[in-house]
Amino acid sequence: MATNRTFTMLKPDSIESGNTGNILQMITDAGFAIKAMKYTRLSEEQAKKFYEVHAERPFYGELVEYMTSGPIIAAILEKENAVADFRALIGATDPAEAAEGTIRKKYAESKGRNAVHGSDSDENAQIEGDFHFSAAEIF
Ligand code: UDP
Ligand code: MG
Repeated sequence: MATNRTFTMLKPDSIESGNTGNILQMITDAGFAIKAMKYTRLSEEQAKKFYEVHAERPFYGELVEYMTSGPIIAAILEKENAVADFRALIGATDPAEAAEGTIRKKYAESKGRNAVHGSDSDENAQIEGDFHFSAAEIF
């Protein structure tokens, strides 16, 4: 069942490069409403858990190191068809392959330091949102 919600993180490179304002503007301009948001830093334990599905991939260690290297902005977003529309807005994982006008094309540095996270399914959007926010923090 579609929930019309997705989960995102503006990753450490977005904060380092000073692009969070521009990225959030793109997100709201695309019609997403912010239902929850926090500025936080993932612990190693949290990053490992969040990216557990990638535990066997060669980039897992580097990914955990990068995602804990500085603060992130985590948010729950709402829009009709949120998961698919947000994946379209952010573009391909590797900015070299991302379509023109997408967030990753504009702001990502590399396949690893790629500016933003977007959930890949309604089920994961729910799990990832619940991972970062309590019920009282979601509006
Ligand atoms: N990643 C990486 N190298 C790769 C593939 C992925 O460093 O070859 C990182 C990248 O930050 C990516 C994250 O791992 O966003 C999760 O990978 P996934 O395949 O789920 O990409 P996404 O769903 O973020 O587009
Ligand atoms: Mg993914």
